[in-house]
Amino acid sequence: DLILQARNLRKTYIQRTGALGLGKQTITALDDVSLQLKRGTTLAVVGESGSGKSTLARGILRLLALDSGEVEFDGTDFLALDKSALRRARRDIQMIFQDPFASLNPRMRVGDIIAEGLVIHGMGDASQQRDNVRQMLEKVGLLAEDAQKYPHQFSGGQRQRIGIARALILQPKLVVCDEPVSALDVSVQAQILLLLKQLQQEMGLSYLFITHDLRVVRHIADQVLVMQKGKVIEQGSVENIYNAP
Ligand code: ADP
Ligand code: ADP
Repeated sequence: DLILQARNLRKTYIQRTGALGLGKQTITALDDVSLQLKRGTTLAVVGESGSGKSTLARGILRLLALDSGEVEFDGTDFLALDKSALRRARRDIQMIFQDPFASLNPRMRVGDIIAEGLVIHGMGDASQQRDNVRQMLEKVGLLAEDAQKYPHQFSGGQRQRIGIARALILQPKLVVCDEPVSALDVSVQAQILLLLKQLQQEMGLSYLFITHDLRVVRHIADQVLVMQKGKVIEQGSVENIYNAP
């Protein structure tokens, strides 16, 4: 049972070169990349900076246009969806970013940040939304009264908990985690990874987990896809990748 399947994705960028930008160079950021993500599991996409990880994630989410390839999300041809169908499908796909502070509006109260998706998609009245936010705060290990505070009043790890609450309040089917612990201290990383795992089991979530950090993969992933220069150079279960000679 696959939540996400991508086949033969290609993406090239044209880059200007030289002091005057008159030269041109083609960069193949994705070279025939395919992947499969089973529902309720975690697929880690690993690779050095520049290997194509974020192009892959953004191409799958239609945040950038791919040159070719197919993406099937929850049984539908995701690249073929029209605007309104895409908007509906986007409720089922949420993202968690590396630096929660960069993506959290500093002038918004935490409660409003977390409720934003509910408001955008018109889900529930104000009092249902408040209840929902309270439950979500508890789920991620924060307090009901934290809803009144502002992001800068929290530590990095707590801010990532806010980012997780905001992403999960819509009960998405797929969560794209883009280096969600890379900006955190190692001890805090372990707490956040544990939280993500607990929530995955509790809510039946599927994670596409982008990271350059192999230690993180071991803690969170079921399957691993290793990228290098736009190509998949290895893929398999975590056990197989780590136990390889
Ligand atoms: P990351 O490694 O986390 O993807 P980058 O610094 O590579 O971060 O990319 C940040 C942003 O800059 C992305 O939107 C990416 O598409 C864009 N970008 C990356 N490399 C280039 C480049 N050579 N020319 C133009 N834009 C780029
Ligand atoms: P990663 O996320 O693994 O760091 P990226 O997907 O950001 O890799 O980048 C893959 C390759 O594509 C890199 O060589 C990067 O410089 C290039 N690239 C990314 N975005 C752009 C862009 N907007 N314009 C030109 N080149 C880009």
